[in-house]
Amino acid sequence: MSKRDYYDVLGVSKGAAPDEIKKAFRRKAKELHPDRNKDNPDSEAQFKEINEAYEVLKDEEKKAAYDRFGHAAFDGGMGGGPRPGQGFGSGDFSSAFSDVFDDLFGDFMGGQRGGGGRRASRGSDLRYNLRVTLEDAFSGLQKTVQVPTAVSCSTCEGTGSEGGVEPTACPTCSGLGKVRAQQGFFTVERTCPTCSGLGQIIKNPCKACGGNGRIEKDRALSVNIPAGVETGTRIRLAGEGEAGMRGGPPGDLYIFVEVERHELFERDGTNLYCRVPVTMAKAALGGAIEVPTIDGGRGRVQVPAGSQSGRQMRLRGKGMPALRGGGIGDMFIELAVETPVNLTSRQKELLSEFDELSEDNNPETNSFFSSVKSFWDGMKG
Ligand SMILES: [Zn+2]
Ligand SMILES: [Zn+2]
Repeated sequence: MSKRDYYDVLGVSKGAAPDEIKKAFRRKAKELHPDRNKDNPDSEAQFKEINEAYEVLKDEEKKAAYDRFGHAAFDGGMGGGPRPGQGFGSGDFSSAFSDVFDDLFGDFMGGQRGGGGRRASRGSDLRYNLRVTLEDAFSGLQKTVQVPTAVSCSTCEGTGSEGGVEPTACPTCSGLGKVRAQQGFFTVERTCPTCSGLGQIIKNPCKACGGNGRIEKDRALSVNIPAGVETGTRIRLAGEGEAGMRGGPPGDLYIFVEVERHELFERDGTNLYCRVPVTMAKAALGGAIEVPTIDGGRGRVQVPAGSQSGRQMRLRGKGMPALRGGGIGDMFIELAVETPVNLTSRQKELLSEFDELSEDNNPETNSFFSSVKSFWDGMKG
C-alpha cells in the first residue's frame, strides 16, 4: 500500500518549523473533522491521515526517523526505528484523536477534557428548582440543597477501569465513537453500539461504577442565594453539575429561583406594593399609620386628611434590593378605606348625624349624590 508523504499530507515543506507543522495540522484538522464533514465519506480517512502525519512530525525523534527512513521507519519489519504504538487506527489513534479534541475544542466543550489520552466526556448540566420566600429574596440566604447527581467514582478515580488500566480504542469504530452503515443508497452515521460513542472500551470495568467512572449519589451543596433574586433568576455553579464520564470535566449546576407569592406584598422589580386598610375616620381626619415592611420591621406613613381609597403613598428605600449594582427600591402603600360594619346603635346615631351635616359642608364629594337625588326627586315629581 503506498502511503502519502507526511509532509504532503499536512501541506508543509520538509524544513518546516514545529510551530508551522502544528498550525498546518490544526487548520487541516478543523477542516476535516468528521463532525463537520457528515456528507464527505472520505473525511474520516483523511482525518486519520493527518493525525497520523502529525503524530510523527510533532515528535522530534519520530520525525528524525521519518526523515531518514520514510514510512519504512515505522513498518513492523524494519526494527530499530521508533514505532508509534501498534499502528494508527487502533491503539495510538484514539489518543491522537483526543489530543485534537483537547487542542481544538477544549474551550468549546467547556474546558479541559480528561488527560492522559482518555476518551472522556463532560458531565451534563443540572437544573435545580429552588423556591424561596420574598423575605429570603430580600435578605439573601445560604441554602443547603440536596443535588441528586453522578459523582466521580472514588474507587477508580473516575477512569472506569479496574486498577487504573488505560482503556483501549473501541475495535468496532476504531475510536471514532461512530459507525457508518449502508442503508439503501445512503450511508448513515450512528453512535457506535459497542462503546456508546465514547470511542473506547474498558477491558476490566471498575466494579464500583460498572465502568462509567461515576456513581449516582445525593450531594449536599451549600448555595449562596444573593439578595434581590427574582423568579427566573438563574444561578450558575460552575463544575457542580454531573460528573464527567471517565474523568471528563463535570457539568454546571443551574439553580432556577422561584420566589413565592407573599400575602402582603406584591413585587415589581425592586418596588413593593402593599394595600393597607385604614378606617374611614382615619382616612377622613388624617394621621399616622404603621405598616409592615419586608425587612420584618414597621414603617410609619402619614395619611393626609381626606384620603380616598386607592391613594398611594411611597416609603422610600423600603423595597427590594437590586440583584446587581446595589440600590434598593421603594415600597408603595395603597390605602383601602374600610366601611365600618356591625355598628352599635350609638355609632349609627353618630353617623346619621354626620351624614346630615355632610350635605352642607362637602358639596364636592356629594355633588354626584345630589344629582342622583334630584334625578330621583324628578322621577317621583
Ligand atoms: Zn469506578
Ligand atoms: Zn465504538
